[in-house]
Amino acid sequence: MFKFDDKIAVAVSGGKDSISLLHILAKIERKHPKARLTAITVDEGIKGYRDEALRITAENCKKLDIEHVTISFKELFGYTFDQMIRRLKRKSHEEETPCAYCGVLRRKALNMAARRIKADKLATAHTLDDETQTILLNIFHGDVMRIAKEKPVTDEVHPKLVQRTKPLCEIPERETSLYAYIKGIKFQSKPCPYASEALRNDARAMLNRMEERHSGIKFTIFRSIEKIRPALEEMARKEGLGECSECGEPTTDKICRTCQMRKQID
Ligand code: SF4
Ligand code: ZN
Repeated sequence: MFKFDDKIAVAVSGGKDSISLLHILAKIERKHPKARLTAITVDEGIKGYRDEALRITAENCKKLDIEHVTISFKELFGYTFDQMIRRLKRKSHEEETPCAYCGVLRRKALNMAARRIKADKLATAHTLDDETQTILLNIFHGDVMRIAKEKPVTDEVHPKLVQRTKPLCEIPERETSLYAYIKGIKFQSKPCPYASEALRNDARAMLNRMEERHSGIKFTIFRSIEKIRPALEEMARKEGLGECSECGEPTTDKICRTCQMRKQID
């Protein structure tokens, strides 16, 4: 996933997975003097939630002697996430869950922040649990081509897209929790007030129930998808990637999802 001299941006939200990833990468990086680590936190502007996460992340970065960069929705899109949700409610434009909006905007913000610091790779803390839930969600939504795109190491498909890696994609969430507790790592445990992805919660509960009865089933799902991904990629390649006619960021559509969402919010 990494080269010995990579400049790595780590997406750190302040939760146990991303803070554990930061500690693990910091430990590995010490043996690779030419590699550089920078933590990136997206400040969505969620009152009473993100402020605490920013503080905890900054404390961990200081302890590990890692540079910490933040990027905010307000700076990039003109509104905090709280303001966006209020505007969407007022305009009765709540076609999707808050997480669906936030996810798209966060993704863009992380890519822009990683590009700003000239990172070679952008590491995110998606665990085996996140990956298997997302696989199921993509199937539930009928959006199977996304399975091809959301792989552990993305292809370098566009000069404006920083290559993404998911170093924890084969690590069950329970193990990242265990790591954080054993190491006495401080992380944010307070849930986001908008966390309301009902379908993801159902997928999580279903997978955990299955895993309890049939140990290893999450790995089996993950590996099965790894096997069929090349065929999906072949189909996805035909979609091609261009640039958004409004903001110039990479997209498969004429206007990217962020700009489409902004039209609803503005
Ligand atoms: Fe954004 Fe949803 Fe995560 Fe909250 S839980 S930070 S709204 S993606
Ligand atoms: Zn755009």
